[in-house]
Amino acid sequence: MAMSEYRSGVPDDWFVDPVQLGVPGVRKPSADDIEDNPLAWQADSLCAQTDPEAFFPEKGGSTRDAKRICTSCEVKAQCLDYALQNDERFGIWGGLSERERRKLRKRAV
Ligand code: SF4
Repeated sequence: MAMSEYRSGVPDDWFVDPVQLGVPGVRKPSADDIEDNPLAWQADSLCAQTDPEAFFPEKGGSTRDAKRICTSCEVKAQCLDYALQNDERFGIWGGLSERERRKLRKRAV
């Protein structure tokens, strides 16, 4: 993804419009939703209710706050799976940084 697609380090496509997903915790995505939209799990993501900047820190910036939020997120596993399957290169996904996901991927090979 080109850097021009970023605004303040947060990719434009990191999150689906909540109106399409429903209110967090109220409407569980169905199997059809998940098939139609691989990001349907984001309806229950904690980061959607916080500052996305924390999840896409500038190079060398702290990831501690984002990772702390991830520890309480009920879609952490889905988030990490999505990031690994889609080779997300930037930001915190599933409580792991880019470098940590890279290491995890190498270990899995
Ligand atoms: S695990 Fe972290 S990055 Fe993933 S959805 Fe939850 S809060 Fe957001």
